Amino acid sequence: MFKKILIANRGDVALRIHRACREMGIKTVAVHSTADEDAMHVRLADESVCIGPPPARDSYLNIPAILSAAAITHADAIHPGVGFLSENAAFAEIVEAHGITFIGPSPAHIQSMGDKITAKRTMIELGIPCVPGSEGPVEGVAAAREEADRIGYPVLIKAAAGGGGRGMKVAETAENLEEAYTMARRESAAAFGNDAVYMERYLGRPRHIEIQIAADSHGNVIHLGERDCSIQRRHQKVIEEAPSPALTQAEREAIGARAVAAVQQMGYRSLGTLEFLYENGEFFFIEMNTRLQVEHPITEAITGIDLVRLQIEIAAGRALGIEQKDVTFNGHAIECRITAEDPRTFQPRPGKIDDYHQPGGLGVRVDSALYAGYSVPPHYDSLVAKLVVHGTTREECLMRVERALGEYVIGGIPTTIPLHAALIQAPAFRSGDYHIRWLETEFLTS
Ligand code: ADP
Repeated sequence: MFKKILIANRGDVALRIHRACREMGIKTVAVHSTADEDAMHVRLADESVCIGPPPARDSYLNIPAILSAAAITHADAIHPGVGFLSENAAFAEIVEAHGITFIGPSPAHIQSMGDKITAKRTMIELGIPCVPGSEGPVEGVAAAREEADRIGYPVLIKAAAGGGGRGMKVAETAENLEEAYTMARRESAAAFGNDAVYMERYLGRPRHIEIQIAADSHGNVIHLGERDCSIQRRHQKVIEEAPSPALTQAEREAIGARAVAAVQQMGYRSLGTLEFLYENGEFFFIEMNTRLQVEHPITEAITGIDLVRLQIEIAAGRALGIEQKDVTFNGHAIECRITAEDPRTFQPRPGKIDDYHQPGGLGVRVDSALYAGYSVPPHYDSLVAKLVVHGTTREECLMRVERALGEYVIGGIPTTIPLHAALIQAPAFRSGDYHIRWLETEFLTS
């Protein structure tokens, strides 16, 4: 097992990884920008190294600085966390070339799944159903028109390198195709330095359902059930729950088994998530994430499995140690992503936390790096806390989320706690009858 892990991340994710390491007897190295000198992940780690100024490109994305930090602290592995360098195949390769273990899949798998066109092709070959769309990149407005006529409107133009819902535009009719196509390309170029786009049928009212898988380097693969991430704004997840209120046990087992078979055939190693849209009883693959997911705690809550620990053990070459039949699902879990944003306009509102009290009690977990006196810096993602609640039933879980949100005090800055409190009471959410556009087109407009 590793003796020391460098955590190439910040915030609640860095803390999450630190906690797993501590429980495994592994020392931790925090890296941080000058804006994060007082951050909780830096305070708790065994060692810390400053890797640059506040902008992420100069610090958390600064590969030479991170490698130097690993070298001078003699870290034997690097955990990339979520975001930043976690899906950067070149980074994974450079880390390995320096004799340090990258805690994640092989660079080749990061590369192939990171290109969403290649990922879809691979899944089609492996017999996984995908959203109908273009077979490869779509180059030029004329080609886009041809594809759209073939696929049928409305169509979605998506960035091949996409992530975080960026570089994605809808063309409702032929009239706005050119504009949507041009905007998607421009946004992709700006966000990812790659303007390749592809096209898909724009599904009307699907749910976003994803399957968590774990694969070791000995060929063992299991799935840990699904997460329903259909409560979204701008294609980004706001609330997630597990299990999905929409699936039957038979559907769960069937899609889980298909995901396991595909991942096994790919020869994939590490944690991974296959994301699907689900409509009228059918699953359509959209992408695979080759890293830990923000919403992993709800899977941990219902399976009792520490996913970060498992990920580290897999990277160290250990076998999974459990088979599919050993995985059991208990109760229901919900995660609220709390951001430092105005709950009405969603404008980021970083600043100083002058009062802090987090909820507790049975079934309540808060993953957050906040504390009273801390200043949320303006340079990074606005996610500041994940409230993860577990109950024996969905009903109990809902009551507990409501109770926990009521106890949560984050003073000094606005947060989306009031939005979550209202959402959790909405009849459509309570009944489980919602889809990916419900939040934006029904809830926020009413
Ligand atoms: P990203 O990598 O940017 O997160 P995804 O492909 O994972 O992009 O899609 C993010 C979200 O965008 C989905 O959860 C869904 O809400 C929406 N979306 C993606 N593809 C489609 C589609 N073909 N039809 C309707 N909505 C879609």
